[in-house]
Amino acid sequence: MMVPFLDFNVVHAQVREKLSKAAQQVIESGHYILGQEVALFEKEFAQYCGVSHCIGVANGLDALRIVLEAYEIGAGDEVIVPTNTFIATWLAVSQTGATVVPVEPSLSTRNLDPEKIRDSITKKTRAIIPVHLYGLPAQMDEINQIAKEFGLIVIEDAAQSQGARYFGQRTCSLGDAAATSFYPGKNLGALGDGGAILTNDERIATRCRYLRNYGSSVKYNHDYLGFNSRLDEIQAAMLRVKLEILDESNAHRVYVAERYTAGIKSSEISTPEPLPGAESVFHLYVITTDRREQLEQHLRGCGVGTLIHYPIPPHKQKCYSAMNSLCFPIAEHLSCSVLSLPIFPGMTNEQIDHVIDSVNAFE
Ligand SMILES: *Cc1c(COP(=O)(O)O)cnc(C)c1O
Repeated sequence: MMVPFLDFNVVHAQVREKLSKAAQQVIESGHYILGQEVALFEKEFAQYCGVSHCIGVANGLDALRIVLEAYEIGAGDEVIVPTNTFIATWLAVSQTGATVVPVEPSLSTRNLDPEKIRDSITKKTRAIIPVHLYGLPAQMDEINQIAKEFGLIVIEDAAQSQGARYFGQRTCSLGDAAATSFYPGKNLGALGDGGAILTNDERIATRCRYLRNYGSSVKYNHDYLGFNSRLDEIQAAMLRVKLEILDESNAHRVYVAERYTAGIKSSEISTPEPLPGAESVFHLYVITTDRREQLEQHLRGCGVGTLIHYPIPPHKQKCYSAMNSLCFPIAEHLSCSVLSLPIFPGMTNEQIDHVIDSVNAFE
């Protein structure tokens, strides 16, 4: 039996016709940039997240970059980021000219450790970017409390957490603003690139709206040195179809995760731990083991696809050469021991059983 890491044909089976019809409508509309589909999606997704403004952009990296720009964060500023994240979180900060200040995660949540944030705050600190990594909300109450104490901005990186709740409230509504990504593999994925900024702050929302479109408020009037980073009409139309089934898709991910956690019985493997108040949407189901290469190879032999998120922490990347000699032991430990198991909407019970049996047969 084969269990692919992710199968888009299965993910999209339920909405294939609707996607085709929606694409057809966009093709026939003759409007491809900043039209009705983007406007409607923004309204629907803002409502879904429980915030007043959503601004669709070209991808998740741009969402982070543009919202930082809207807060006028740049050279001379410091921004706290997790050591354990996809590199986009860091790149967005670096691209503004601001300095990334990496803070380690806690081993149990794999998310930013609020205890450690305090020690990294200086006079130059402007913002904190918690990432809801693998779909699990970060400890936002503690993070917001620290931010309030020091007058810092909190920008959620919610690229992996669409739909996740924290004490009943959806991610994207938990900080001053949020950035998310609709890369196809995300929980709410487009059929190409896409991203969005969410906020209740009207001033920031307006700036982001201008910044994504050449810094322009009125056509050919440019108030800011803006970007060209718009969500396409066709992707907005795809996202509107997929937003309708997001809760259902996430519920299936949670089901798969619960079955894995209950079924995996190996003293050498740790499964994700729950966090009080946090309802993960399991963008990824990430186990840890000291014998990762062997487990990976064993699962490949069983026909089970796995991936590593992520094999090299940002501070060890060539593009951050000045930081290569720094030591962040938790991020480094995670990068050597994490392994992501298949998890996607539409995964069958037989596939889930096969993954559990294969993992348990590892010795
Ligand atoms: C995917 C991702 C991004 C960036 O999204 P893109 O749309 O690929 O630019 C940012 N942060 C995290 C944590 C991500 O997983």
